[in-house]
Amino acid sequence: MSEAADVEEIESDVCVVGAGPAGLTLALLLLRSGLRVSVVERSRSHQREFRGEILQPGAMRILDQLGVLENARARGCHEHSRFRLLERDRVLLDIDYRSLPAPYDHLLSLPQAHLLTELLLHCARFTGFRYVDGCRVGGLLRDDGGRVTGVTGDGHVFRAKVVVGADGRFSKVRRLAGIEAGRTEAFDQDVLWFKLRGARREDGHDVRVFRGAGTSPVLVYGSWPDNVQVGWTLPHKGYQEVARGGLGHIKAQLARAVPAYAELIDDQITSLRDLSLLDVFSGRAERWAVDGLVLIGDAAHTHSPIGAQGINLAVQDAVVLHPVLVDAVRREDTGAESLSRFERLRAPDIAATMRLQGVQSKAMLSTGTFATRVRPRLAAVVRHTPLYRKILRTVAYGNPSVRVAEELFAL
Ligand SMILES: Cc1cc2nc3c(=O)[nH]c(=O)nc-3n(C[C@H](O)[C@H](O)[C@H](O)COP(=O)(O)OP(=O)(O)OC[C@H]3O[C@@H](n4cnc5c(N)ncnc54)[C@H](O)[C@@H]3O)c2cc1C
Repeated sequence: MSEAADVEEIESDVCVVGAGPAGLTLALLLLRSGLRVSVVERSRSHQREFRGEILQPGAMRILDQLGVLENARARGCHEHSRFRLLERDRVLLDIDYRSLPAPYDHLLSLPQAHLLTELLLHCARFTGFRYVDGCRVGGLLRDDGGRVTGVTGDGHVFRAKVVVGADGRFSKVRRLAGIEAGRTEAFDQDVLWFKLRGARREDGHDVRVFRGAGTSPVLVYGSWPDNVQVGWTLPHKGYQEVARGGLGHIKAQLARAVPAYAELIDDQITSLRDLSLLDVFSGRAERWAVDGLVLIGDAAHTHSPIGAQGINLAVQDAVVLHPVLVDAVRREDTGAESLSRFERLRAPDIAATMRLQGVQSKAMLSTGTFATRVRPRLAAVVRHTPLYRKILRTVAYGNPSVRVAEELFAL
């Protein structure tokens, strides 16, 4: 405790704000490299229901290498073998993960709570780890030259050689550092999410997008333990208009879009509070580092949920930032120039994913007559080309050359 009796001061090499997939993966990598790490998280639990839970093979491979995946899986998950785009009875697109090399030849529907709990347990084995939850960061500490030297929040002061903003798409750290989010309205749809309990069926081993006449596309997948997660696409910024029609109107449209679940929708969606709106946008922060501070994961770049890329990218960001940070801390050079090596290494991968997501969104979700006519023919042709395998590998792995710098591990 500091002189002001109710303020706790914590000192570490690196202070990570946000215990999401990016923040906790990075914390574990740094701890294994012998650094002292504090993690500050505003929420007290890992139960963040409407968060990404589809893991791609790229993130699985890294988490496995860190010894985290097996136990996270053991807490409960579902494997999905294919991603399918369906229009009535026709399969327009069938991306089969079983053609990838085992053991990461599937998508994994894994509640984020299972992943985060396991990452945290691994971090907690290190004496250099401090975890403070229920603490919302609200300020940055700076020295006389303007360099960031820590953060403050809810009766805590965290001093560190480097602060990492891993606090998600609406990053407070990013705002406090005066960095523009670089938001662009690149997508035509927002997504309304809900879960149906007891709805998982034996045919539920795929992630599916249903397209139907006169209804917006709907994403459906089996979610642990026996739920179905549904994402109904709406015109971007169109929710108020839809909500004006009332709950009954929304339920009727949902039932039309996924008739197989009509009864469960009727029983379980009893208020607009059962639905969660995701404002879909993409963003790339104008810069990812200033003196003493670096951004990763959604805080640095935010994505559409299409193609389930967010966790993959967040985990890989941590892997790419790890050697940059270890080097910066050891050399005591934590200025913007040194830390922005991360941005130089990583930005091309992020740009490539954003481009791919734009194409995926247009190919899968657009509703114009041209797209509707051309899509099935194009999908049938592309399926048998090397381009299809390239797209599958990119969606599954992101940049496949991202590797954990195990040579830096001391512990
Ligand atoms: C509805 C939805 C569905 C998605 N589906 C998928 C999917 O299927 N697959 C996929 O890969 N991605 C998906 N995503 C995206 C994915 O969830 C994110 O890309 C990923 O979680 C980013 O990880 P992160 O660690 O950067 O940020 P986050 O997971 O957002 O973690 C940020 C953390 O920072 C904490 N925090 C925020 N502000 C503060 C503060 N001031 N002080 C302290 N702590 C703070 C938050 O509580 C949170 O724990 C989805 C996203 C949403 C919203």
